[in-house]
Amino acid sequence: MTELAELDLSGITAAQERQILDRLLRDDFDQWAEQAARVGHCAHPIRLTGQQRTVETATGSVLSTFASASLPDEVLYVRCNNRRASWCPSCSRTYQGDMWHLLKAGAAGGDKGVPESVASHPMVFATLTAPSFGPVHASKKPGSKTQRCRPRTRGEFCRHGKSLSCMDIHAEHDTLARQPFCGDCYDYEAHVIWQWWAPELWRRFTIALPRLIAKRLCLTQSQARRLACVSFAKVGEYQARGVIHFHAIIRLDGPPVDDDRYPAPLADVDSAWLADLVRQAVASVQYQAPPVSRAAPGYLLRFGAQVDARPVHHSAGRDDLSGAIHPETVAAYIAKYSTKSATDLDSGIRSANPHLARVRATVLGLSELAYRTYPPGLLEPPNPYLLLGKWAHMLAFRGHFASKSRRYSTTMGRLRSARRRFEHAKAFSPDGVVDVAALDQDLADDETTLVVNDWQFVGTGWTTPGDAVLVAETSAITREYAGVGRVQSQNTTTK
Ligand SMILES: [Zn+2]
Ligand SMILES: [Zn+2]
Ligand SMILES: [Zn+2]
Repeated sequence: MTELAELDLSGITAAQERQILDRLLRDDFDQWAEQAARVGHCAHPIRLTGQQRTVETATGSVLSTFASASLPDEVLYVRCNNRRASWCPSCSRTYQGDMWHLLKAGAAGGDKGVPESVASHPMVFATLTAPSFGPVHASKKPGSKTQRCRPRTRGEFCRHGKSLSCMDIHAEHDTLARQPFCGDCYDYEAHVIWQWWAPELWRRFTIALPRLIAKRLCLTQSQARRLACVSFAKVGEYQARGVIHFHAIIRLDGPPVDDDRYPAPLADVDSAWLADLVRQAVASVQYQAPPVSRAAPGYLLRFGAQVDARPVHHSAGRDDLSGAIHPETVAAYIAKYSTKSATDLDSGIRSANPHLARVRATVLGLSELAYRTYPPGLLEPPNPYLLLGKWAHMLAFRGHFASKSRRYSTTMGRLRSARRRFEHAKAFSPDGVVDVAALDQDLADDETTLVVNDWQFVGTGWTTPGDAVLVAETSAITREYAGVGRVQSQNTTTK
């Protein structure tokens, strides 16, 4: 456990202080601290009571019993596994790590059962953006010091008389950055409708790309599938203007043969070739959204004209002049986006960002309109905007923040159960050291024993607010140390 002297316990209430002292003075404090460490100092763990018995299948005799009654407070804590950093910094970090492994395995190979050879397959890192819904104040790009927002030497005004020119340089967290110049010119309805159908646009893209590949190879689609299959992993990220972007790793494999799930595709295609087709596929996608009410306009939806599709190469350096990018850099980017998204949006909404507040109000307004104009049950097909209002907190984005095609790499579920097995083994090992080889052997011997779980849900969170403070502070310090280690190891591995 971390040195207690390092904990910053300023700003706590008298009651919390008393609870913390109680905890520290208990005989079983060390055991409690170990429990907290085992769930990675999760901020909102699940509390369970009950027991787990390991039974020998042949004889029915109980080999070992693990019961919550033997633990401090007689409860077992289990991680919340929440992805959002604002809810649980620890689990969010674990999620980010898992996501990184999953994405890296698919991009660089050599991990999680994906062979290293996938890194030499044609691969592209693409960013699919939303179109413009009206001019917004631009924040400067990372690395640029001088990028002015929207300089117009002769001035420019909208039809409401508002200036559309701005000489300022907005930092990323400047309150004006990404706010519309004129709230009446900004097309909030189009923004919301686009966001609502963004998953459909992505789906259409995943259909358009293989079609385009077949066409370029002068083959039918089923012929093309016998030569090359598209796999991808994508994450959604909110931009500061409250609209979602998709970042995707798109990879071309050959068709699976027998045991080889990741064979190389046909020889004469490369990453640059694929990048070109990705750009074309994105540009070709469109969807005619049904109108929200009989009087409302229908929108022909597309992705933004700005399509970034960069070839991914194992040999690419940090600032490759050709625009190529290294597989591990891509995986790290995309894993970062996958936890950032909703958290950033949370803070945007909490900070009373007037633009985001208006997007949300528009979601509710359109939902109300759809509900009144198309009462459920009266029209076929059913009103596609029926659930729109329920997604107001997500600014009408109802899709998955992270998804991947089946063959891209391993799954989050498999990573999680592997870690659970590891943590379980660690919990039962007297010195906290796990013999991984023995663990593998245990797994192989699985049929000889049966694990019987009998757990009841008690609640979520730590037992007292004082405990929660203690855990949160320890967690912050642990992450600080881990953060230092991580930066150092990144510096040595990204060369
Ligand atoms: Zn958690
Ligand atoms: Zn500006
Ligand atoms: Zn205007």
